[in-house]
Amino acid sequence: ISISDPIEEHRICVCVRKRPLNRQELLKKECDVVTVPSKCVLMVHEPKQKVDLTKYLETQTFRFDFSFDETSSNEMVYRFTARPLVETIFEGGKATCFAYGQTGSGKTHTMGGDFSGRAQNASKGIYAFASRDVFVLLNQPRYRNQNLDVYVTFFEIYNGKVFDLLNKKAKLRVLEDGKQQVQVVGLQERPVGCAEDVIRMITVGSACRTSGQTFANASSSRSHACFQIILRRRGQMIGKFSLVDLAGNERGADTSSADRQTRMEGAEINKSLLALKECIRALGQNKSHTPFRESKLTQVLRDSFIGANSRTCMIAMISPGMSSCEYTLNTLRYADRVKEL
Ligand code: ADP
Ligand code: MG
Repeated sequence: ISISDPIEEHRICVCVRKRPLNRQELLKKECDVVTVPSKCVLMVHEPKQKVDLTKYLETQTFRFDFSFDETSSNEMVYRFTARPLVETIFEGGKATCFAYGQTGSGKTHTMGGDFSGRAQNASKGIYAFASRDVFVLLNQPRYRNQNLDVYVTFFEIYNGKVFDLLNKKAKLRVLEDGKQQVQVVGLQERPVGCAEDVIRMITVGSACRTSGQTFANASSSRSHACFQIILRRRGQMIGKFSLVDLAGNERGADTSSADRQTRMEGAEINKSLLALKECIRALGQNKSHTPFRESKLTQVLRDSFIGANSRTCMIAMISPGMSSCEYTLNTLRYADRVKEL
């Protein structure tokens, strides 16, 4: 991948990121079935069997705005995905960036980074890089004297309900007023004065998101997390950047589980990911009808799917192992549909 920022002004950008095989996968001698032959292409080599039982690989090729291989860093991914959208919020627009993919594929690693304290060095993700660049822009001459204030929010949507990650997971109501404005009532908007303030909020919210979870039953894989950077001038909203770490897309398939709760959550996730795809497609096609009411996720993000000055980016995350092949292909087909006009 050459280091030059993309010049083209797309309203919708769809990228894919392959993570490296992890330690357990290497120990299990898991095969890497994904290759990234060039900066826009990704290939999946799916093992198949012929009738005579000889084995062969069926290769499926996908094209995206960018394909990041396992050597890419969070900062590199940021630079080609969310970075070009930072200006949008200074120009009065709404920006969104979504991380989509199966549980364990790297959504939280890419978006939130690792602030758990387990890592030797807290690694930054897109939330932190985008916040840093908001303050870089804010201090440039053209924006410095514009009386802009920065706020952040961080919330989770779990089974169609909204919880505030910056306020001890307080349950919040979503209201739609007569003027079709959607409001999350009581959502804490924290004022931030520098990038370090934001890191503190990310740390607090991330800890809140995963608290009380056992690894095997992590509700984080069944919830969407949304981190927003909001620009205001004398209280009036100028722009908003929503960075969303989506629920694991394999959870949408839990609709036939024996457990009723799991089944309902699966159906809700399925519904929200389908609605999201349709809302992004509507944005790309400048359609007047955006089906945002189909799910809480798209309802809450309503104002980001409309307006001439809205831009969005989706990063599809890929696990490289052979055992993930089916989910990988599902993820790539979904991402493909988002982009296709
Ligand atoms: P998800 O949020 O999609 O369920 P995570 O972000 O939690 O997945 O990633 C699962 C594991 O893989 C974590 O331990 C994470 O640190 C690691 N991981 C994910 N992506 C990468 C990457 N690009 N490079 C190195 N490790 C990664
Ligand atoms: Mg996660």
